[in-house]
Amino acid sequence: MDLLIVGSGFFGLTIAERAAASGRKVTVIDRRHHIGGNAYTENEPTTGIEVHKYGAHLFHTSNATVWEYVNRFTQFTNYVHRVYTTHKGVVYPLPINLGTINQFFQAAYTPGEARDLIQELAGEFDPKQANNLEERAIGLIGRPLYEAFIRDYTAKQWQTDPKELPAEIISRLPVRYTYDNRYFNDTWEGLPVDGYTAWLERMADHANIEVKLSTDFFDESQPLNKKATVGQVPIVYTGPVDRYFDYTEGELSWRTLDFEQDVLDIPDFQGTSVMNYADADAPYTRIHEFKHFHPERADRYPTDKTVIVREYSRFATRADEPYYPVNTAEDRAGLLAYRDLAKGEQDVLFGGRLGTYQYLDMHMAIGSALSMWNNQLA
Ligand code: FAD
Ligand code: UDP
Repeated sequence: MDLLIVGSGFFGLTIAERAAASGRKVTVIDRRHHIGGNAYTENEPTTGIEVHKYGAHLFHTSNATVWEYVNRFTQFTNYVHRVYTTHKGVVYPLPINLGTINQFFQAAYTPGEARDLIQELAGEFDPKQANNLEERAIGLIGRPLYEAFIRDYTAKQWQTDPKELPAEIISRLPVRYTYDNRYFNDTWEGLPVDGYTAWLERMADHANIEVKLSTDFFDESQPLNKKATVGQVPIVYTGPVDRYFDYTEGELSWRTLDFEQDVLDIPDFQGTSVMNYADADAPYTRIHEFKHFHPERADRYPTDKTVIVREYSRFATRADEPYYPVNTAEDRAGLLAYRDLAKGEQDVLFGGRLGTYQYLDMHMAIGSALSMWNNQLA
């Protein structure tokens, strides 16, 4: 074995694929019983509808290198992601655009009029100088829209004072003065034609790659554990960075999600793939209806049944799957301490969403793995 990779998510598989293609022998271990990390999907057995087991995953990128790379393993559908939100019993389009603004203010503003209004409402904060999520959001859209669509959703999602959250979280959502309600701004987007799992499996399908599932790096009863391998073979570690160091610098805070899945005997539950719930009275943040991700599969999917998943967010304990880095000031201090420790680990590189404690989308995880391969490993 030339390289041990801990974690078979997009980061680990990209490193594995590149290493294998250049003739190196690689072993990938994952503590889960399947490959693919959080992008893994499986078909709901009674309907055959593809369900994203760890939350809906939409692929989008403006990075030409990443786009060329991912197209080696899968074709993409022409799905364009659009999200709606329910506030006080009324459905609005997201991200906040001219349609949202006109519906909210019961008006027919032109782009210029809407811009002037928002500028007036948003005067409290300059979004460029914002120190936290609340200041950035109010600076971008003004307090009334913030209170309707962001404040309570964010409280449910993060259970952290928006003044403590990094401003970057809200910069993920564009604000537009047109009726364009594409959720993402990127050049390319789509869903893998035959599903995420088929894509992930093709990345791992190489004679030089061995995958060992249900294998935990910290389980000393299995031979490829931390104690036995660090210093013996180069390692790319994509699990949680605080766990690697046994939490010596404190626990970094993560959000986890709970998913409640129902198969309903109706053709259509909500008419769209993702409906957010902006208000505090709905305990979930959003509902996914998976058949709407693949309208091109209409002839394969049942017409009389649908699969929905309600998503709930809460703080992760050590026993939970860590999904979102919360990234408070305290977390950032802890992360710096872990980065120092990481530098001292012989032949161990830390990568991916968990290994770097970064809110990485798939294209970012793949892009950063390609960079690590080219710059540090190749
Ligand atoms: P992961 O996919 O988390 O893989 C890490 C792997 O390491 C896991 O399989 C885990 O089991 C394994 N592991 C951890 N500890 C150990 C251990 N001790 N021993 C062995 N194995 C271990 N991105 C988008 O681009 N679009 C989206 O719409 C999108 N939606 C998302 C929704 C949710 C709810 C979440 C959580 C993420 C979403 N993402 C999305 C981000 C996407 O999931 C990540 O970018 C991608 O999964 C990163 O891959 P990764 O390899 O870094 O991490
Ligand atoms: N957000 C919000 N209301 C919404 C959608 C998003 O307040 O209806 C905020 C929330 O703080 C969230 C952030 O915007 O964490 C980023 O949203 P995105 O949909 O990108 O989050 P993800 O899909 O990663 O959960």
